[in-house]
Amino acid sequence: MAKDSIVNGKKLKCLICGYKEFEKINTKLNKKWLPALDLELFSRRGIAYISKNCGFKHEFFK
Ligand SMILES: [Zn+2]
Repeated sequence: MAKDSIVNGKKLKCLICGYKEFEKINTKLNKKWLPALDLELFSRRGIAYISKNCGFKHEFFK
């Protein structure tokens, strides 16, 4: 059985295909929009869940 991915106390379900299995990876906010700035705010780390079915990436930055 697949493990459910829990985000904010809720089971994550793919927005696109409804699949419930994800690959969990660390991610960073994209800094390309503000190349001159390297503020901590724009290098925050987050977590991304990639649907194992369709590949859609769900990103969470807290
Ligand atoms: Zn999906």
